[in-house]
Amino acid sequence: MTVRAASLALLGLLFGLDASAAERPVVSAAAGDSFPVATDARLGGDESRTRFVIDLTQKIDLRTFTLADPYRLVVDIPQVVFRLPPKTGESGRGLIKAFRFGLVMQGGSRLVVDLTKPAKVEKAFVVDPIEGEPARLVLDLVPTDRESFLRRVVIDSRAARSSVPPANGPELRSTDPRPLVVLDPGHGGIDTGTKGPNGEEEKEIVLNFAQRLRDRLEKGGKFRVLMTRADDTFVPLADRVRIARDAGAALFVSIHADALPHGEGDAQGASVYTLSETATDSDAAKLAEKENRADVIAGVDLKSEPDDVAGILIDLAERETKSFSLQFAHKLLGEMKGVARLHKTPLKSAGFRVLRAPDIPSVLIELGYVSNRQDLQSLLSDSWRDRTAESIAQAIDAYFAARLAGAHTGSN
Ligand SMILES: [Zn+2]
Repeated sequence: MTVRAASLALLGLLFGLDASAAERPVVSAAAGDSFPVATDARLGGDESRTRFVIDLTQKIDLRTFTLADPYRLVVDIPQVVFRLPPKTGESGRGLIKAFRFGLVMQGGSRLVVDLTKPAKVEKAFVVDPIEGEPARLVLDLVPTDRESFLRRVVIDSRAARSSVPPANGPELRSTDPRPLVVLDPGHGGIDTGTKGPNGEEEKEIVLNFAQRLRDRLEKGGKFRVLMTRADDTFVPLADRVRIARDAGAALFVSIHADALPHGEGDAQGASVYTLSETATDSDAAKLAEKENRADVIAGVDLKSEPDDVAGILIDLAERETKSFSLQFAHKLLGEMKGVARLHKTPLKSAGFRVLRAPDIPSVLIELGYVSNRQDLQSLLSDSWRDRTAESIAQAIDAYFAARLAGAHTGSN
């Protein structure tokens, strides 16, 4: 496996694409003297509590996450040279069946611990070298039940999606670990969307806006950006969600412009929609039924779960997604209110199909009303478009900054 392939595999894992390929680390080949060296590893304790210790020449950071089916604990650490005795990791003790280790990308090493049963990390830390003793990485594992283990898997996979791997070598940038933002300009092709008094078409307005937002985000450099359509094509609603999920999106932003039919009064200003409660609940059930359930939540094979456990896990993922969507919606309105006119009740929820990915925080922005003269003027104005795109980019920055600050890193 090349470094690039290994990096891709790790990214695949982080983004929940292909756990099986990524969990096999390659054994470190090149060894620079500047890297910490792992000199010994040992296991202690029994099935009620198992301790895993690795001796190191210097202190390092670590991050742990879990994978299910089979039960595994993954420990990501900066690049380490493994000079461990032969056969290290081939046999286990207590909650640990065996373990593997190696370099997964330039700048990043990984330990994969096979567990004998569901277990959780009670403690994970690295102690400084003292008085001739080496630095030590210590993991304390205790048993847990399958359901709690799966919850942890779901939570870990979400943290990984919105954060970056522990090491940031130049190699990583080429395989691009940055969070993926999917922009979804509404309508397209034969579907024009709403129309202004002089034939101004929503599909054109929102595409132009999304392109500006994409350019702004790409210039900022913090995110990868994918558009569900980048030209005047018709893309079915279900495909828009599928595009985002297949690509491992960390955030989904659908962009529209509203209109009130003639004779229904006047409305103006921008609104931000999140998925409504009722739509979420009925849809969760349908999605669980209809789609391959293994596909619903990264890394967990829900097909083999009893219905109630699968339901709990889907529900957990959805509640988290909903709460992140709402956090993002608040940040959006906070930033947009300075530059764009907002609707009198700017935060709304509705059962939009494009908001229904159970595991991707999603919002739909109605930029304004093409049926309102002043809004339409704004919607067609280059400077309004740029300012508003800038405010949305700021909100995306702020949202991910908050997610990263709250991400699950280090010990449990
Ligand atoms: Zn629309």
